[in-house]
Amino acid sequence: MRVSTFITYEMLINTQIKIKKAEQSRIKEVDFNDLAFGKYYSDHMLVADFKDGQWQQPELMPYGPMPLYPTISALHYGQSIFEGMKAFRAQNGDIALFRPMENWMRMCHSAERMGMPAIPESLFSEVLPRLVKLDEAWIPTNDGCSLYIRPVMFATDEKVGVHASDTYRFVVFTTPVGLYYSKPLRALAQKHYIRAAQGGIGGTKAAGNYGGAMQPSTKAKEQGYDQIIWLDAKEFKYIEEAGTMNIMVVIDGVLTTPPVGSTTLDGVTRKSLLQLARHWGLPVEERPISIGEVIDALKNNRLQEVFGVGTAATVSNIIEIGYEGVDYKLPELTSEHFSARASRYLKDLRYGRTNDEFGWMVKV
Ligand SMILES: *Cc1c(COP(=O)(O)O)cnc(C)c1O
Repeated sequence: MRVSTFITYEMLINTQIKIKKAEQSRIKEVDFNDLAFGKYYSDHMLVADFKDGQWQQPELMPYGPMPLYPTISALHYGQSIFEGMKAFRAQNGDIALFRPMENWMRMCHSAERMGMPAIPESLFSEVLPRLVKLDEAWIPTNDGCSLYIRPVMFATDEKVGVHASDTYRFVVFTTPVGLYYSKPLRALAQKHYIRAAQGGIGGTKAAGNYGGAMQPSTKAKEQGYDQIIWLDAKEFKYIEEAGTMNIMVVIDGVLTTPPVGSTTLDGVTRKSLLQLARHWGLPVEERPISIGEVIDALKNNRLQEVFGVGTAATVSNIIEIGYEGVDYKLPELTSEHFSARASRYLKDLRYGRTNDEFGWMVKV
């Protein structure tokens, strides 16, 4: 046997996965007390190719570079989509993923919109958990920390003509992470750039959405803001997202958030918070919210909270909104506000400190 050995997956579980283990773990390089987002990548990655009209046998292999031709169509025409999800280590040592099949469904939705093949359910339900298990030593145990999981799929046809690719690669790698945003955010609502238009791809996690947001985000940072509050593309009137997070506001005690569709991503965190709010008996509204309504509510003392929600940060409070040259300070947040309660609940759930009444945690 060579040092890197192929073990067939049947030896471990009844499905077909090839596993090639890293010769040596890199975990000794990790400072678990200083986990900047994406600073370290775990020992292994999952790779599955789509060709000849079907998905090929998935492989778990050492994380590392992969040779690709400069002609691959993802680089030129942007057929590239991704997901973001997390694994947690509970107090009792159990490992669990937060609603992983929601990510599978959304990735299939993104794939469909981008003319890419659907992803087999088993890649998310069987193979991805294997990857997490294989690198379980990389799951941080400190409160607020987790193993961030990044599935990505991209077009690999080596033909430079504009066409929907016939071949694709699906890759999953993981990275131990601490808290994403530790401080409340200053956000800029601006009327120059848009993120997504009706009928476009804003409702997918397609790479191009993020590429198009880089320059506006950098400009906002240069002006002292942490995030952009994206307004709708038609009228620059309705709030849609906060950077790469869904946005929520509480006005007169009503949790309000823009509806999802082709301009707003159907976030798993958003969905979970709405469910929690309803469960707790809080009034909830999914409807268009204009930036004017938010500012007016603030001026009339009717605005209680504004926050962004997403897997990376879970809940990020917004303490200031810049709009039309004015910086509006938002109300102080207390531990009794909905965003704080929801954030605590999700934390307790993820670290196994509270009963999983919705069945959101999937054990690995
Ligand atoms: C990923 C993402 C979100 C949050 O979705 P989650 O499933 O909660 O992580 C929101 N908006 C955009 C634009 C995103 O890319």
